[in-house]
Amino acid sequence: MKRAIFPGSFDPITLGHYDIIERGVTLFDEVIVAIGVNASKKYMFSIEERMDFIKAAFKHEPKIKVVSYKGLTVDFCKKNDVEFILRGLRNPADFEFEKAIAHTNRDLAPIETVFLLTAASTSYIASSIVRDVIRNNGDYTKLVPDSVRVKQ
Ligand code: ADP
Repeated sequence: MKRAIFPGSFDPITLGHYDIIERGVTLFDEVIVAIGVNASKKYMFSIEERMDFIKAAFKHEPKIKVVSYKGLTVDFCKKNDVEFILRGLRNPADFEFEKAIAHTNRDLAPIETVFLLTAASTSYIASSIVRDVIRNNGDYTKLVPDSVRVKQ
């Protein structure tokens, strides 16, 4: 069974993440969308909200699992029999950042990182921008799956 993890904060999931996950499903038998919990980071959405947004967005897709995890991604992979880490690349800055993480992970465990180039139509989207739009009462709905809705 080819299993991949797609790790991230997903605060909140965007159409960019959605695109990578949907395409990941065509490459792997199972894609685990894993929300990394970092106690020192401040999030806009709670872990439960972030999980619910992702689960609802993919309720039609049995090959996608949604979990949260603490600690190193490679340790999660070892414990859960995951051989691949899936990441999206938007631009050269993502590449440089991801390269260092992928090399480090490869030193820590025999796990391959697989990169997908983002779709041109969503490559400008970042969760941080979505949060800014939400904070300033803009129309964020074009940037995220329908399952992401802010309680008024
Ligand atoms: P973090 O910043 O905590 O790593 P993110 O939720 O921002 O987590 O990103 C998780 C993954 O999703 C990364 O591989 C990132 O490159 C990818 N990603 C983020 N935004 C997009 C986008 N608009 N299109 C495609 N991939 C994206």
